Amino acid sequence: MVTVTLAQRKSAVLTPSGLACLAGIPTINLTAGCPHGCLYCYSQGYSCYPGRGRVVLYANALEKLKSELARKRKRPQAVYFSPASDLFQPVPEVLEMAYGILEYLLAQGIGVAFLTKGRIPEGHMELLRPKAAIVRAQVGLVTLDPDVAARFEPGAPRPADRLAQIHSLVAGGIRTQVRLDPILPGVTDDRGTLSDLLAALAQAGVDCVAASTLFLRPALANALKAALPEEECRKLLGHFKPADRLAIHAEHSTVTALPLGLRREILTRVADVARRHGLHVNVCACKNPDLPSQCCGIAGDWPADGPQAAQHPLFGTLKQPGH
Ligand code: SF4
Repeated sequence: MVTVTLAQRKSAVLTPSGLACLAGIPTINLTAGCPHGCLYCYSQGYSCYPGRGRVVLYANALEKLKSELARKRKRPQAVYFSPASDLFQPVPEVLEMAYGILEYLLAQGIGVAFLTKGRIPEGHMELLRPKAAIVRAQVGLVTLDPDVAARFEPGAPRPADRLAQIHSLVAGGIRTQVRLDPILPGVTDDRGTLSDLLAALAQAGVDCVAASTLFLRPALANALKAALPEEECRKLLGHFKPADRLAIHAEHSTVTALPLGLRREILTRVADVARRHGLHVNVCACKNPDLPSQCCGIAGDWPADGPQAAQHPLFGTLKQPGH
């Protein structure tokens, strides 16, 4: 059961992101809150988070978008949805708003990139397919195990449905990556689980995966403690040491990360299994500034990305993979 509240957004709807992979690509959140209710969702720590089962929909988002774009000297090449919510939530009002915004942007020739765990309705797919050249999709999928998914992502579609969604996006000619993030230590990081998932993705026509491991903040640790069986929670959180603070570029903040050695071990395993299935893995650089990592391509690749990304301060400091 989701409670939807309408609100008027006062601040700009097009928001720049601190993520290096989103340099030059503004972002939009249509809502605060998301009914997928993932236990590991970082937005639970944000001041605008309305609480579990609650969604605040910005009713004036389309109107504001139009006036903000009209005032811009240079229009963005693409817009990214959504840093702290999901464009394809199972909420009719949100889906209707999403349709209107996608329709407007695509008609203007502005590309759309989205990361979703949601089910994209057929009507929205009909809008996206003919514009596939300016659409980039990332689907969040961390396991094929329906029980694990039901515990950690209780409101999101089942993994099998997301796999079918990936098939459909790829078949529609839309460039589609998968986001294997967060990898849950001791839950989804074993070779067998990774192999099942990555084999299914390769079969679905995916060739690139972005990966990172879970990190903790107090709100997130509390959500895990409140919802998981005690034994599983202890096992999961037992991998973290409070002293392992990491300054991540994603939000210019510090988090409790997995110890460097364990993160390296897990991400190396992911890359190894992926290689066996013919997939390429990008390790999220913003969340792993202490590892050789890359742009995770959260918004897909756009022709102007290269120079923009290269100018971003983060990429100036990165080691190249393998160095
Ligand atoms: S789908 Fe994304 S935004 Fe929604 S709850 Fe899950 S992690 Fe958060």
